[in-house]
Amino acid sequence: MNDSFRAMMIVDRDGRPHAEFRDLTTADLPDHDVLVEIAFSTLNYKDGLAITGKGRIARRLPMVAGIDLAGTVVESRSPDWAPGDKVLVNGWGLSETEWGGYARFQKLKPQWLTRLPDAFTFEEAMGIGTAGYTAALCVDALEDWGAISPGGREVLVTGAAGGVGSTAISLLARKGYAVTAATGRPEAHAYLSELGATAFVDRAALAEKGGALQKERWGGAVDSVGSTTLANVLAQTAYGGAVAACGLAGGMDLPATVAPHILRGVSLLGIDSVMAPAARRERAWKTLAAHLDKARLGRIARVEPMSALPALAEEIVAGKVRGRVIIDVS
Ligand code: NDP
Repeated sequence: MNDSFRAMMIVDRDGRPHAEFRDLTTADLPDHDVLVEIAFSTLNYKDGLAITGKGRIARRLPMVAGIDLAGTVVESRSPDWAPGDKVLVNGWGLSETEWGGYARFQKLKPQWLTRLPDAFTFEEAMGIGTAGYTAALCVDALEDWGAISPGGREVLVTGAAGGVGSTAISLLARKGYAVTAATGRPEAHAYLSELGATAFVDRAALAEKGGALQKERWGGAVDSVGSTTLANVLAQTAYGGAVAACGLAGGMDLPATVAPHILRGVSLLGIDSVMAPAARRERAWKTLAAHLDKARLGRIARVEPMSALPALAEEIVAGKVRGRVIIDVS
């Protein structure tokens, strides 16, 4: 364990964050209570921002990037975890304020760890990653709100071919909802149909500024795009519906009016995966274990080595990655 291992780090280069591979030993890791040998990490949009430097994700440098990890406890000073336990971590500031998953070993706080559900291997859990777990948080939120019901109005998923979108479609379809996918990639229609989408909307149509109240269509929606898209989705949501908003792939702004909220009782449900409490995380992972079609997950995920991260980061930020990328950190 004193051997060195490779880590993808964000370092300070001339006052700017810069991504590069560095060799570490376990002695270099933070002094947290649980040492985990990481099997796999994954690639999320936020990881792309961190590695390309297109978003300032790391708030202290040097930083090991990677917001997700799955692996085995090797040493523990916590009574809650023992060597051999299989665990995963999503968020909790990894890659922002805490060293993350793009390394063979990491030391972590006990409260950040979630037990790996029996239903999933490490690889599958990272095929899901923060993107998939966030999709489950969105679906749970819409159902808890009582906005959607199987057999009811259509549920819209924006950013459909992305990580959050693909998993949201798969989960919703398996739960019996009629799912419409908003995508900018017509070539992804067959793939999205396979996941369970039954109708399509061109994402360009949602990106143009529309009226404050538009024809009511959606019972609910999962939105990972934000900006004008989210404003239009709210304006098209039917009376009493809700939109779970988790992303900003199209922009951070929200050029909307209160009309859908005060005239149609439409709700905007904010979804955060990073600091979500443990109970909500466990529930989301149960939703995934119960409803995610693992065969479909296998079709939307692929494994890449850490050396591919710089190129993959550019691709995901450019909206060119389809489905999920699992990162083999060995
Ligand atoms: P991906 O890059 O995998 O997917 C994003 C998708 O959004 C793309 O595939 C594309 O879908 C669509 N898209 C990209 N650019 C634009 C654009 N300019 N206008 C409209 N649509 C666009 O990212 P993830 O699925 O991993 O993440 C999606 C979003 O959710 C990100 O903003 C991410 O930061 C956020 N997120 C937030 C979390 C939270 O805790 N709140 C957790 C996880 C993610 P298509 O090709 O189908 O059009």
